[in-house]
Amino acid sequence: MDLGGRTVAVLGAGKSGIAASELLLSRGARVTLWDERSPEQLGAEALAARGVAVRGGAPVGSVDLGRPDLVVVSPGVPLRLPSIVRARESGVPIWGEVELAACFLPPGALVLGVTGTNGKSTTTALLGALCQAGGLDAFVGGNLGTPLARAVLEAPRRTYVLELSSFQLEGMETVRVHGAAVLNLTPDHLDRYDGLEDYAAAKARIFGNQEPGDVAVVNADDRWTLGMVDAARARRFGFTLRPGSTPPPGLTGLAGPVEGGFQLGFAGLRFRLANRALRGGHNLANAMAATLLAFHAGVRADALQAGLDGFPGLPHRLESIRTLDGVEWINDSKATNVDAVLTALTAFPAGQRLWLIAGGKGKGAPYRPLVEAALGKVAGLLTVGQDAPLLDAEFSPVLPVYPCETLDRAVARARALARAGDVVLLSPACSSYDQFRNFEHRGDTFRALVEALS
Ligand code: ADP
Repeated sequence: MDLGGRTVAVLGAGKSGIAASELLLSRGARVTLWDERSPEQLGAEALAARGVAVRGGAPVGSVDLGRPDLVVVSPGVPLRLPSIVRARESGVPIWGEVELAACFLPPGALVLGVTGTNGKSTTTALLGALCQAGGLDAFVGGNLGTPLARAVLEAPRRTYVLELSSFQLEGMETVRVHGAAVLNLTPDHLDRYDGLEDYAAAKARIFGNQEPGDVAVVNADDRWTLGMVDAARARRFGFTLRPGSTPPPGLTGLAGPVEGGFQLGFAGLRFRLANRALRGGHNLANAMAATLLAFHAGVRADALQAGLDGFPGLPHRLESIRTLDGVEWINDSKATNVDAVLTALTAFPAGQRLWLIAGGKGKGAPYRPLVEAALGKVAGLLTVGQDAPLLDAEFSPVLPVYPCETLDRAVARARALARAGDVVLLSPACSSYDQFRNFEHRGDTFRALVEALS
Protein backbone atom coordinates (compact mmCIF):
# COMPACT_ATOMS: atom_id res chain seq x y z
CA MET A 1 0.00 0.00 0.00
CA ASP A 2 1.27 3.46 -0.88
CA LEU A 3 1.06 5.61 2.22
CA GLY A 4 3.04 8.53 0.79
CA GLY A 5 1.32 11.79 1.68
CA ARG A 6 -1.66 10.03 3.29
CA THR A 7 -2.99 11.36 6.57
CA VAL A 8 -3.10 8.69 9.27
CA ALA A 9 -4.44 8.93 12.82
CA VAL A 10 -2.74 6.51 15.21
CA LEU A 11 -4.69 5.86 18.42
CA GLY A 12 -2.74 4.91 21.53
CA ALA A 13 0.91 5.78 22.13
CA GLY A 14 2.09 2.57 23.78
CA LYS A 15 4.94 0.66 22.19
CA SER A 16 2.73 -0.62 19.34
CA GLY A 17 1.34 2.84 18.53
CA ILE A 18 4.80 4.38 18.58
CA ALA A 19 6.20 1.63 16.35
CA ALA A 20 3.23 2.06 13.98
CA SER A 21 3.86 5.82 13.84
CA GLU A 22 7.51 5.24 12.97
CA LEU A 23 6.57 2.73 10.29
CA LEU A 24 4.08 5.17 8.81
CA LEU A 25 6.65 7.98 8.87
CA SER A 26 9.15 5.75 7.09
CA ARG A 27 6.55 5.27 4.36
CA GLY A 28 5.95 8.99 3.93
CA ALA A 29 2.59 9.25 5.72
CA ARG A 30 1.52 12.32 7.68
CA VAL A 31 0.85 11.02 11.17
CA THR A 32 -1.20 12.29 14.09
CA LEU A 33 -0.70 10.27 17.28
CA TRP A 34 -3.52 10.41 19.84
CA ASP A 35 -3.35 9.35 23.47
CA GLU A 36 -5.17 10.31 26.63
CA ARG A 37 -1.90 11.08 28.39
CA SER A 38 -0.47 14.55 27.85
CA PRO A 39 2.38 14.92 25.31
CA GLU A 40 4.75 15.59 28.24
CA GLN A 41 3.71 12.37 30.00
CA LEU A 42 4.12 10.46 26.74
CA GLY A 43 7.70 11.57 26.25
CA ALA A 44 6.99 11.62 22.51
CA GLU A 45 9.39 14.51 21.79
CA ALA A 46 11.47 12.36 19.45
CA LEU A 47 8.41 11.54 17.35
CA ALA A 48 7.25 15.15 17.42
CA ALA A 49 10.68 16.24 16.22
CA ARG A 50 10.30 13.87 13.28
CA GLY A 51 7.03 15.49 12.27
CA VAL A 52 4.38 13.47 14.10
CA ALA A 53 1.59 15.67 15.44
CA VAL A 54 1.18 14.43 19.02
CA ARG A 55 -2.26 15.08 20.50
CA GLY A 56 -2.75 14.15 24.11
CA GLY A 57 -4.65 14.96 27.23
CA ALA A 58 -8.18 13.84 26.26
CA PRO A 59 -9.77 10.36 26.07
CA VAL A 60 -9.21 9.10 22.51
CA GLY A 61 -12.80 7.90 22.36
CA SER A 62 -14.23 11.38 22.54
CA VAL A 63 -11.84 13.37 20.32
CA ASP A 64 -12.60 14.52 16.79
CA LEU A 65 -10.18 12.68 14.52
CA GLY A 66 -11.14 14.80 11.51
CA ARG A 67 -11.16 12.93 8.16
CA PRO A 68 -7.88 11.00 7.97
CA ASP A 69 -7.23 8.57 5.10
CA LEU A 70 -6.61 5.79 7.63
CA VAL A 71 -6.97 5.11 11.35
CA VAL A 72 -4.48 2.74 12.98
CA VAL A 73 -5.51 1.45 16.39
CA SER A 74 -3.20 0.16 19.15
CA PRO A 75 -4.26 -3.11 20.79
CA GLY A 76 -5.17 -1.38 24.05
CA VAL A 77 -7.77 0.86 22.39
CA PRO A 78 -11.27 -0.65 21.97
CA LEU A 79 -12.67 -0.44 18.43
CA ARG A 80 -16.06 0.52 19.84
CA LEU A 81 -15.00 3.96 20.97
CA PRO A 82 -17.27 6.67 19.54
CA SER A 83 -14.43 8.43 17.68
CA ILE A 84 -13.54 5.17 15.90
CA VAL A 85 -17.16 4.29 15.15
CA ARG A 86 -17.67 7.76 13.65
CA ALA A 87 -14.57 7.42 11.48
CA ARG A 88 -15.66 3.99 10.30
CA GLU A 89 -19.15 5.26 9.47
CA SER A 90 -17.68 8.02 7.37
CA GLY A 91 -15.78 5.43 5.33
CA VAL A 92 -12.31 5.65 6.89
CA PRO A 93 -10.53 2.26 7.03
CA ILE A 94 -9.75 1.18 10.60
CA TRP A 95 -6.69 -1.05 10.98
CA GLY A 96 -4.98 -2.58 13.94
CA GLU A 97 -1.23 -2.18 14.25
CA VAL A 98 -0.69 -5.78 13.03
CA GLU A 99 -2.84 -5.19 9.94
CA LEU A 100 -0.69 -2.18 9.08
CA ALA A 101 2.59 -3.93 9.79
CA ALA A 102 1.62 -7.05 7.83
CA CYS A 103 1.41 -4.94 4.64
CA PHE A 104 5.18 -4.62 4.86
CA LEU A 105 6.12 -8.22 5.53
CA PRO A 106 8.72 -9.49 3.06
CA PRO A 107 7.18 -11.45 0.16
CA GLY A 108 6.95 -15.15 0.91
CA ALA A 109 7.37 -14.73 4.68
CA LEU A 110 5.75 -17.43 6.80
CA VAL A 111 3.44 -16.10 9.53
CA LEU A 112 2.74 -18.25 12.60
CA GLY A 113 0.33 -16.97 15.24
CA VAL A 114 -0.76 -18.00 18.72
CA THR A 115 -3.79 -16.80 20.65
CA GLY A 116 -5.90 -18.01 23.59
CA THR A 117 -6.85 -16.81 27.03
CA ASN A 118 -3.83 -18.36 28.78
CA GLY A 119 -0.44 -19.57 27.68
CA LYS A 120 0.05 -17.25 24.69
CA SER A 121 3.43 -15.89 25.72
CA THR A 122 4.87 -19.25 26.73
CA THR A 123 3.67 -20.97 23.57
CA THR A 124 4.84 -18.15 21.31
CA ALA A 125 8.29 -18.08 22.90
CA LEU A 126 8.54 -21.86 22.69
CA LEU A 127 7.38 -21.88 19.06
CA GLY A 128 10.04 -19.28 18.30
CA ALA A 129 12.65 -21.45 20.00
CA LEU A 130 11.52 -24.54 18.04
CA CYS A 131 11.71 -22.62 14.76
CA GLN A 132 15.14 -21.30 15.61
CA ALA A 133 16.29 -24.80 16.61
CA GLY A 134 15.18 -25.87 13.15
CA GLY A 135 17.29 -23.19 11.54
CA LEU A 136 14.39 -20.93 10.55
CA ASP A 137 15.26 -17.26 10.66
CA ALA A 138 12.38 -16.34 12.97
CA PHE A 139 11.23 -13.07 14.49
CA VAL A 140 9.34 -13.67 17.76
CA GLY A 141 7.07 -10.97 19.10
CA GLY A 142 3.76 -9.22 18.52
CA ASN A 143 1.78 -8.83 21.71
CA LEU A 144 4.84 -10.13 23.57
CA GLY A 145 8.08 -8.18 23.34
CA THR A 146 8.64 -6.34 20.08
CA PRO A 147 5.59 -5.19 18.07
CA LEU A 148 5.35 -6.39 14.47
CA ALA A 149 5.38 -2.76 13.27
CA ARG A 150 8.89 -2.45 14.66
CA ALA A 151 10.00 -5.81 13.28
CA VAL A 152 9.12 -4.84 9.71
CA LEU A 153 11.23 -1.69 10.08
CA GLU A 154 14.21 -3.93 10.71
CA ALA A 155 15.95 -6.55 8.54
CA PRO A 156 13.49 -8.85 6.75
CA ARG A 157 12.99 -12.36 8.16
CA ARG A 158 11.70 -15.53 6.57
CA THR A 159 9.42 -16.43 9.51
CA TYR A 160 7.32 -14.33 11.89
CA VAL A 161 6.13 -15.97 15.11
CA LEU A 162 3.45 -13.76 16.65
CA GLU A 163 1.57 -13.69 19.91
CA LEU A 164 -1.82 -12.24 19.01
CA SER A 165 -4.25 -10.94 21.62
CA SER A 166 -7.97 -10.88 20.88
CA PHE A 167 -7.69 -7.10 20.72
CA GLN A 168 -5.07 -7.36 18.00
CA LEU A 169 -7.12 -9.94 16.12
CA GLU A 170 -10.10 -7.59 16.12
CA GLY A 171 -8.08 -5.06 14.18
CA MET A 172 -6.88 -7.59 11.58
CA GLU A 173 -8.87 -7.83 8.35
CA THR A 174 -6.66 -9.39 5.71
CA VAL A 175 -3.64 -10.87 7.48
CA ARG A 176 -3.07 -14.49 6.54
CA VAL A 177 -1.69 -16.51 9.43
CA HIS A 178 -0.27 -19.60 7.72
CA GLY A 179 -0.04 -21.59 10.94
CA ALA A 180 -2.42 -20.51 13.71
CA ALA A 181 -3.26 -21.90 17.15
CA VAL A 182 -6.00 -21.08 19.66
CA LEU A 183 -4.93 -22.53 23.01
CA ASN A 184 -8.05 -22.19 25.17
CA LEU A 185 -10.91 -19.88 25.93
CA THR A 186 -12.12 -18.92 29.39
CA PRO A 187 -14.02 -15.82 30.55
CA ASP A 188 -11.66 -12.85 30.39
CA HIS A 189 -11.88 -9.27 29.16
CA LEU A 190 -15.65 -9.60 29.24
CA ASP A 191 -15.71 -5.88 30.00
CA ARG A 192 -14.72 -5.43 26.35
CA TYR A 193 -16.97 -8.06 24.78
CA ASP A 194 -20.71 -8.78 24.79
CA GLY A 195 -20.11 -12.26 26.14
CA LEU A 196 -18.04 -15.37 25.63
CA GLU A 197 -19.34 -15.86 22.07
CA ASP A 198 -18.27 -12.41 21.08
CA TYR A 199 -14.84 -12.98 22.67
CA ALA A 200 -14.57 -16.37 20.91
CA ALA A 201 -15.44 -14.73 17.60
CA ALA A 202 -12.53 -12.31 18.06
CA LYS A 203 -10.14 -15.20 18.72
CA ALA A 204 -11.48 -17.22 15.77
CA ARG A 205 -10.41 -14.42 13.43
CA ILE A 206 -6.90 -15.92 13.55
CA PHE A 207 -8.21 -18.59 11.13
CA GLY A 208 -10.23 -16.16 9.01
CA ASN A 209 -7.80 -15.62 6.12
CA GLN A 210 -6.22 -19.04 5.99
CA GLU A 211 -5.93 -20.96 2.72
CA PRO A 212 -6.31 -24.71 2.21
CA GLY A 213 -2.58 -25.47 2.59
CA ASP A 214 -2.39 -23.66 5.95
CA VAL A 215 -2.66 -25.21 9.40
CA ALA A 216 -5.17 -24.52 12.16
CA VAL A 217 -4.45 -25.87 15.66
CA VAL A 218 -7.02 -25.99 18.46
CA ASN A 219 -7.41 -27.43 21.93
CA ALA A 220 -9.49 -30.57 21.46
CA ASP A 221 -10.44 -30.54 25.17
CA ASP A 222 -12.00 -27.07 24.88
CA ARG A 223 -15.33 -26.95 23.10
CA TRP A 224 -15.01 -23.25 22.37
CA THR A 225 -11.75 -23.57 20.48
CA LEU A 226 -12.86 -26.81 18.85
CA GLY A 227 -15.88 -25.00 17.47
CA MET A 228 -13.66 -22.36 15.90
CA VAL A 229 -12.18 -24.62 13.24
CA ASP A 230 -15.54 -25.44 11.70
CA ALA A 231 -15.22 -22.49 9.38
CA ALA A 232 -11.47 -22.81 8.80
CA ARG A 233 -10.30 -23.65 5.30
CA ALA A 234 -6.92 -24.87 6.56
CA ARG A 235 -5.89 -28.39 7.60
CA ARG A 236 -7.00 -28.82 11.21
CA PHE A 237 -5.08 -30.36 14.08
CA GLY A 238 -5.78 -30.57 17.78
CA PHE A 239 -4.02 -31.31 21.03
CA THR A 240 -5.45 -33.03 24.08
CA LEU A 241 -4.37 -33.87 27.61
CA ARG A 242 -6.41 -37.09 27.51
CA PRO A 243 -4.26 -40.12 26.78
CA GLY A 244 -5.17 -42.36 23.88
CA SER A 245 -7.74 -40.06 22.30
CA THR A 246 -8.56 -40.34 18.64
CA PRO A 247 -9.19 -37.08 16.77
CA PRO A 248 -12.72 -35.75 17.18
CA PRO A 249 -14.70 -35.18 13.97
CA GLY A 250 -13.33 -32.30 11.97
CA LEU A 251 -9.69 -32.76 12.97
CA THR A 252 -7.11 -34.39 10.72
CA GLY A 253 -4.69 -35.27 13.49
CA LEU A 254 -4.18 -35.03 17.20
CA ALA A 255 -1.25 -34.51 19.56
CA GLY A 256 -1.67 -36.27 22.91
CA PRO A 257 0.25 -37.33 26.00
CA VAL A 258 2.35 -40.47 26.34
CA GLU A 259 4.57 -41.57 29.23
CA GLY A 260 7.24 -38.89 29.70
CA GLY A 261 6.06 -36.69 26.86
CA PHE A 262 3.65 -36.55 23.95
CA GLN A 263 3.12 -37.86 20.46
CA LEU A 264 1.97 -36.62 17.10
CA GLY A 265 0.14 -39.82 16.31
CA PHE A 266 -0.67 -38.85 12.73
CA ALA A 267 3.05 -38.43 11.96
CA GLY A 268 4.32 -41.36 14.03
CA LEU A 269 6.47 -39.05 16.19
CA ARG A 270 7.09 -39.06 19.94
CA PHE A 271 8.71 -36.32 21.96
CA ARG A 272 10.17 -36.31 25.46
CA LEU A 273 9.07 -33.47 27.74
CA ALA A 274 11.58 -33.44 30.56
CA ASN A 275 12.39 -29.72 30.58
CA ARG A 276 11.60 -28.25 34.01
CA ALA A 277 10.80 -24.91 32.42
CA LEU A 278 7.79 -26.70 30.89
CA ARG A 279 6.46 -28.51 33.95
CA GLY A 280 2.73 -28.97 34.47
CA GLY A 281 -0.17 -30.11 32.34
CA HIS A 282 -0.72 -26.59 31.08
CA ASN A 283 2.80 -26.52 29.67
CA LEU A 284 2.31 -29.94 28.10
CA ALA A 285 -0.63 -28.38 26.24
CA ASN A 286 1.49 -25.38 25.27
CA ALA A 287 4.30 -27.66 24.11
CA MET A 288 1.96 -29.73 21.94
CA ALA A 289 0.47 -26.62 20.33
CA ALA A 290 3.91 -25.15 19.60
CA THR A 291 5.23 -28.46 18.28
CA LEU A 292 2.25 -28.91 15.94
CA LEU A 293 2.86 -25.50 14.41
CA ALA A 294 6.62 -25.91 14.17
CA PHE A 295 6.26 -29.39 12.67
CA HIS A 296 4.02 -27.99 9.95
CA ALA A 297 6.46 -25.13 9.40
CA GLY A 298 8.96 -27.81 8.40
CA VAL A 299 11.07 -28.17 11.54
CA ARG A 300 12.47 -31.70 11.73
CA ALA A 301 11.83 -34.03 14.66
CA ASP A 302 15.39 -33.94 16.02
CA ALA A 303 15.38 -30.13 15.99
CA LEU A 304 11.95 -30.10 17.65
CA GLN A 305 13.27 -32.32 20.44
CA ALA A 306 16.38 -30.16 20.86
CA GLY A 307 14.19 -27.04 21.00
CA LEU A 308 11.88 -28.58 23.63
CA ASP A 309 14.86 -29.65 25.73
CA GLY A 310 16.67 -26.32 25.50
CA PHE A 311 13.77 -23.89 25.99
CA PRO A 312 14.76 -21.65 28.89
CA GLY A 313 11.17 -20.71 29.82
CA LEU A 314 9.89 -17.21 30.40
CA PRO A 315 10.59 -15.21 33.53
CA HIS A 316 7.85 -15.01 36.20
CA ARG A 317 6.01 -18.16 34.99
CA LEU A 318 7.06 -21.06 37.24
CA GLU A 319 10.61 -19.77 36.77
CA SER A 320 13.12 -21.83 38.70
CA ILE A 321 15.55 -19.36 40.24
CA ARG A 322 17.96 -21.61 42.11
CA THR A 323 18.25 -24.67 44.31
CA LEU A 324 19.88 -23.88 47.64
CA ASP A 325 20.58 -26.62 50.19
CA GLY A 326 18.20 -28.88 48.27
CA VAL A 327 15.35 -26.32 48.27
CA GLU A 328 14.12 -25.13 44.87
CA TRP A 329 12.96 -21.49 44.70
CA ILE A 330 10.37 -20.71 42.03
CA ASN A 331 9.08 -17.36 40.80
CA ASP A 332 5.51 -17.46 39.48
CA SER A 333 4.80 -13.76 39.92
CA LYS A 334 2.70 -13.76 36.72
CA ALA A 335 0.07 -15.73 38.69
CA THR A 336 -2.04 -12.67 39.46
CA ASN A 337 -5.30 -14.55 39.97
CA VAL A 338 -6.61 -17.64 41.75
CA ASP A 339 -6.83 -19.76 38.58
CA ALA A 340 -3.16 -19.23 37.79
CA VAL A 341 -2.18 -20.44 41.26
CA LEU A 342 -4.37 -23.52 40.83
CA THR A 343 -2.52 -24.18 37.58
CA ALA A 344 0.80 -23.76 39.36
CA LEU A 345 -0.13 -26.09 42.22
CA THR A 346 -1.26 -28.82 39.85
CA ALA A 347 2.12 -28.62 38.10
CA PHE A 348 3.73 -30.29 41.13
CA PRO A 349 3.35 -34.00 41.88
CA ALA A 350 1.33 -35.19 44.85
CA GLY A 351 3.55 -35.35 47.90
CA GLN A 352 5.80 -32.47 46.84
CA ARG A 353 6.20 -30.24 49.91
CA LEU A 354 5.63 -26.61 48.95
CA TRP A 355 5.94 -23.37 50.86
CA LEU A 356 3.57 -20.98 49.12
CA ILE A 357 4.10 -17.22 49.21
CA ALA A 358 0.87 -15.45 48.23
CA GLY A 359 -0.99 -12.18 48.62
CA GLY A 360 -1.04 -8.68 47.20
CA LYS A 361 -3.85 -6.62 45.77
CA GLY A 362 -6.71 -9.09 45.35
CA LYS A 363 -9.20 -9.17 42.51
CA GLY A 364 -12.23 -10.14 44.58
CA ALA A 365 -12.35 -13.83 43.60
CA PRO A 366 -12.76 -16.27 46.51
CA TYR A 367 -9.57 -17.96 47.78
CA ARG A 368 -11.40 -21.07 48.97
CA PRO A 369 -10.58 -23.17 45.82
CA LEU A 370 -6.89 -22.74 46.62
CA VAL A 371 -7.24 -24.40 49.99
CA GLU A 372 -8.42 -27.67 48.48
CA ALA A 373 -5.64 -27.64 45.89
CA ALA A 374 -3.10 -26.88 48.59
CA LEU A 375 -3.98 -29.81 50.84
CA GLY A 376 -1.38 -32.54 50.76
CA LYS A 377 1.14 -30.27 49.00
CA VAL A 378 1.45 -26.95 50.75
CA ALA A 379 3.25 -27.27 54.07
CA GLY A 380 2.65 -23.66 54.96
CA LEU A 381 1.40 -20.37 53.52
CA LEU A 382 3.44 -17.19 53.86
CA THR A 383 1.24 -14.16 53.27
CA VAL A 384 2.19 -10.73 51.97
CA GLY A 385 0.36 -7.55 50.96
CA GLN A 386 -3.14 -6.24 51.22
CA ASP A 387 -5.14 -9.46 50.93
CA ALA A 388 -3.12 -11.32 53.60
CA PRO A 389 -6.01 -11.31 56.12
CA LEU A 390 -8.42 -12.84 53.57
CA LEU A 391 -5.94 -15.60 52.73
CA ASP A 392 -5.29 -16.14 56.41
CA ALA A 393 -9.00 -16.55 57.11
CA GLU A 394 -9.33 -19.29 54.49
CA PHE A 395 -6.11 -21.17 55.17
CA SER A 396 -5.49 -20.97 58.88
CA PRO A 397 -8.19 -23.51 59.84
CA VAL A 398 -6.34 -26.16 57.80
CA LEU A 399 -2.72 -25.11 57.31
CA PRO A 400 -0.03 -23.17 59.13
CA VAL A 401 -0.09 -19.53 58.01
CA TYR A 402 2.87 -17.19 58.50
CA PRO A 403 1.90 -13.52 58.11
CA CYS A 404 4.98 -11.79 56.65
CA GLU A 405 3.60 -8.54 55.17
CA THR A 406 6.50 -8.05 52.78
CA LEU A 407 8.36 -10.22 50.32
CA ASP A 408 11.74 -9.85 52.01
CA ARG A 409 10.30 -11.18 55.26
CA ALA A 410 8.54 -14.00 53.47
CA VAL A 411 11.78 -15.06 51.79
CA ALA A 412 13.67 -15.02 55.09
CA ARG A 413 10.90 -17.01 56.78
CA ALA A 414 10.72 -19.57 53.99
CA ARG A 415 14.49 -19.98 54.12
CA ALA A 416 14.18 -20.92 57.79
CA LEU A 417 11.21 -23.27 57.25
CA ALA A 418 12.10 -25.21 54.10
CA ARG A 419 14.06 -28.47 54.18
CA ALA A 420 15.97 -30.29 51.42
CA GLY A 421 13.55 -31.55 48.76
CA ASP A 422 11.03 -28.77 49.39
CA VAL A 423 9.97 -26.06 46.95
CA VAL A 424 9.37 -22.41 47.82
CA LEU A 425 6.86 -21.01 45.37
CA LEU A 426 5.93 -17.36 44.91
CA SER A 427 2.51 -17.63 43.24
CA PRO A 428 0.59 -14.70 44.63
CA ALA A 429 -3.03 -15.07 43.35
CA CYS A 430 -3.10 -11.28 43.46
CA SER A 431 -1.94 -8.33 41.45
CA SER A 432 1.17 -6.59 42.68
CA TYR A 433 0.04 -2.98 42.67
CA ASP A 434 -0.17 -2.59 46.44
CA GLN A 435 3.60 -3.02 46.84
CA PHE A 436 5.15 -3.14 43.34
CA ARG A 437 4.95 -1.42 39.96
CA ASN A 438 3.80 -4.62 38.21
CA PHE A 439 4.22 -8.39 38.33
CA GLU A 440 7.63 -8.15 36.67
CA HIS A 441 8.86 -5.80 39.39
CA ARG A 442 7.54 -8.18 42.05
CA GLY A 443 9.17 -11.19 40.39
CA ASP A 444 12.46 -9.37 39.87
CA THR A 445 12.46 -8.34 43.53
CA PHE A 446 11.83 -11.93 44.57
CA ARG A 447 14.60 -13.19 42.29
CA ALA A 448 17.08 -10.69 43.73
CA LEU A 449 16.14 -11.66 47.30
CA VAL A 450 16.54 -15.35 46.52
CA GLU A 451 19.83 -14.86 44.70
CA ALA A 452 21.16 -12.98 47.72
CA LEU A 453 20.43 -15.88 50.11
CA SER A 454 23.43 -17.67 51.49
P1 ADP B 1 -0.53 -15.26 28.42
O1 ADP B 1 0.52 -14.66 27.53
O2 ADP B 1 -1.70 -15.80 27.63
O3 ADP B 1 -0.94 -14.42 29.58
P2 ADP B 1 1.53 -16.90 29.70
O4 ADP B 1 2.27 -17.85 28.84
O5 ADP B 1 2.18 -15.64 30.09
O6 ADP B 1 0.11 -16.60 29.03
O7 ADP B 1 1.07 -17.68 31.01
C1 ADP B 1 0.38 -16.97 32.02
C2 ADP B 1 -0.20 -17.90 33.04
O8 ADP B 1 -1.27 -18.63 32.45
C3 ADP B 1 0.76 -18.96 33.53
O9 ADP B 1 1.49 -18.49 34.64
C4 ADP B 1 -0.16 -20.10 33.89
O10 ADP B 1 -0.69 -19.90 35.19
C5 ADP B 1 -1.31 -19.97 32.93
N1 ADP B 1 -1.23 -20.84 31.75
C6 ADP B 1 -0.21 -20.93 30.86
N2 ADP B 1 -0.50 -21.80 29.89
C7 ADP B 1 -1.73 -22.26 30.14
C8 ADP B 1 -2.60 -23.17 29.47
N3 ADP B 1 -2.25 -23.78 28.35
N4 ADP B 1 -3.81 -23.40 30.03
C9 ADP B 1 -4.18 -22.80 31.16
N5 ADP B 1 -3.41 -21.93 31.84
C10 ADP B 1 -2.20 -21.66 31.34
